[in-house]
Formats: sequence, structure tokens, C-alpha cells
Amino acid sequence: MIQTIKNCYDSHIHFLAIGQVAAGLQLQSLASELEIQNIQIKPQYYRESWIQGFGWDQNKWSSKKFPHKKTLDQIFPDTPVFLSRVDGHASWINSKAVDALTKKGYDFSKNPVGGTIARDEQGEVTGVLFDQAHINALLMMPHFTDAQTKAHFEISQKLLNQGGFTHARDLSMNLNSWQILSQMSDDKKISVCVDSFVTAENLGDLPRVLNEISAMKKNPSPFLKIHGVKLFVDGSLGSKTAFLSQNYLQSETHGMMSWATDEIKQALKMIWQSKLEVAIHTIGDQAVHEVVLAARQVSAEGILGRLHLEHVQIVRPETIQLMKPLHITCHMQPCHWLSDHSWLPEVLPVDLLKNLFPWEALRKNKIAFDFGSDAPIEPSLLLRNLQALQLSAQKSIPALADDWKKYHAHCDLKWTNSWTEFDESSIRQVYFDGQPLL
Ligand SMILES: [Zn+2]
Repeated sequence: MIQTIKNCYDSHIHFLAIGQVAAGLQLQSLASELEIQNIQIKPQYYRESWIQGFGWDQNKWSSKKFPHKKTLDQIFPDTPVFLSRVDGHASWINSKAVDALTKKGYDFSKNPVGGTIARDEQGEVTGVLFDQAHINALLMMPHFTDAQTKAHFEISQKLLNQGGFTHARDLSMNLNSWQILSQMSDDKKISVCVDSFVTAENLGDLPRVLNEISAMKKNPSPFLKIHGVKLFVDGSLGSKTAFLSQNYLQSETHGMMSWATDEIKQALKMIWQSKLEVAIHTIGDQAVHEVVLAARQVSAEGILGRLHLEHVQIVRPETIQLMKPLHITCHMQPCHWLSDHSWLPEVLPVDLLKNLFPWEALRKNKIAFDFGSDAPIEPSLLLRNLQALQLSAQKSIPALADDWKKYHAHCDLKWTNSWTEFDESSIRQVYFDGQPLL
């Protein structure tokens, strides 16, 4: 049976990164740390002199151990190498990259706020960076050229369209990307409507982000909307850095918050007073809880605004009750269940497993939410989310007692005349602004 979704929407993507990852070195199939020696390096994997890759996951390796820089050093003694983990929250680098980053001012002598530089027993850097330590290094990588960036966007939008989407919400916009996309829009070379947010790395970074957003607002485009600011307050379950109310199994850690509560409140105030929306990456149950409490305290002072909670992979019932008076939309990715359900019981305490992927609990409590993919962390595929919802309901996740398609439709049905036709096994056709794309 052919079904239709109007303005078919992926509510959480990293638009540019989709194309960057697709064009770059992909390590999803790496079956062990040592297998990196069999990788064939192509010219497009370079950013200036650096080799960049994405997608390794030590949970797929028999050792389950994080990798070490010495493995990379044997293969790449003279080239800086930067390989991002599959969740985008950690990186594996070699000694040449440590040297190059140090020259650029990266401080390997201590952990940055909200991040960890892995060390061995002797205190030696092992070459794995977590969360803010990873992000700080990523921000120091050489930039792609504008021509490379445009080519990456072309790949990104093609993949989104093939996955069934005409509308998407980008959590990684910046001014350079906005200008390139505006030009593509003027040239009628765009086939996705993009809602966008700009990431602030910390409170001190917020004024820069607010300025970038003002510049975007002065350069409007019919297919691009800028909504607000994105913050990361915790990490990921796979790196054991998502902030939980209890320790991870067989572990001394329950993750961490990369923003202090006071900083979150200050950011909410500044952003809401600027009439912008706030999107906050919260994966662990305690991260969600603390952000919701902070938003309630700011709201109680009469400063109101929209709060988007990204991922919300574990939410306790009492936190859902606290969400009710706020203007909250949650953005969830059923496909993460497909990728992660096999190992989640090995890392999460039983109490928290009960509260995983709580789409049905949110629906019952009338908390708004949308579905997306988190591409390129997962591929941006409408039917993969359908599959995830069907299979998770057969396992332990409470089934969504509603038409799942509603959660993949953009709330503004008038934003272009676009629709997607599909059946359970394939995307049949995608119409963007009235024109068929496939
Ligand atoms: Zn994301």
C-alpha cells in the first residue's frame, strides 16, 4: 500500500557532516583496532595535510577497548590523523596529530571542562579524546574549501531526498554554510527545506553565536530558517559520557555534564531574551532532568521560550511530569534503538532500561516530539525509523499508540508543496516544491 507524508521531515541532522562523511573515510565496518592498517587512503580523505575519518566503534570489536595512538603511529608516522567515533563524541588521533594540535595551542596537559583526554597509567596521552576534548580538537582541524563544502551539501541533500525527506532540522549551521546554501537556493539548486540551529561551545561562545544568527537573519532565504542555539550538555551512551542518575554497569562513572546548571540557566535567559529557541543535547536521564529543572527556574522568573530536547534516550517518569508547563519539543531517533539495543543492557542499570526510548510515555503525557535520524551518526532513512519502531515494539520498548507518520511531518505544511510517497519496503517518489526528485 502506498502511503504519503507531506513535508517529510528529519528532525535532527548534521546537514554538512552527512556529505562530509559520505565523501570521506568511513570506518563503520572496522572490526578491530589493528584492521586500520588495511584501509586504503584516497585523496578526498584529506583536509589539507590531515587524514580525517569517521565511524569506528570499539563496541563492535572483540576487545571492546578504546584504541591507542601507537597503532596509528605505525601506519601514519608522518601524517596527522583524526578519526571520529561513530557517535561523534570521541576521536582517535596519532602522535603527529598530537604534535600538530599542540602547535595550534591545544593543551594536552589537562582535561578541558566537559571533556577527557584519555591517559595510560603513566599519565601518557593514549590518543583518544572525549566530548569537549574531542570537539576542541575538531574545531582546530583545517577547513574544507567553499567548493568542497558546496559539493558536500549536494551529497547531503541527495542522500536526504533518497531517504524520503524534503525537510530537515540542522543542528550544525554556521555562517559560511548559510551563505553557501543561500547561493544554492538563489541558483535553484536546493531540494531540502532546512530549519537550523548554531552550536555554542560554552557560555563564552554565546555572543559569537548570537552575532552569527543576526547575520543569517539579515540574509534570508526561502528554503532556510534560523531558529536558535544548540548546546551540548552531556555525551553519549556508547562513550559512557551521557549523564545518568546511576553508574554505568561495571563502571565507576555515571557520565558528566559539560555545562554547570548556572551556566545553562544563563544561556537559556540570554537566548530566550533574544527571542530565539534553545536546543539542548541531553541523552542521559539525569541530564534531561537537570535541564528541565533549569528551564523551569528560568521560566518562573518570567523569561519564556521554546526548548528543544535532543535525543532524550532515557527519561524518568517524574521528569516527564516536570516538562508539562514548559514549551518543550523532544527530538528522538528510533534508528538509534536499532543500532544500540544489542549492547545497551550491558552498560545500563535495569532501572534505566525501563525508561529507554520513551516516545509512548511522552505521547501519553502530551509532550510534543518529532522523529529524526541524527545523520550522519545514523543514515537518514525514513523507512529505517519505521523498521525501528516495529522491531522495538516487539522487544521491550512500549509501542507508539499513534500514527508514526505524524512525527515525521514538518509542522509547517505550507512550507513548499512537497510530499513523499512510499511503501513498507521503498521510497517510491519524493516531490520537492512540486517537482519529482527521484
Ligand atoms: Zn546530533
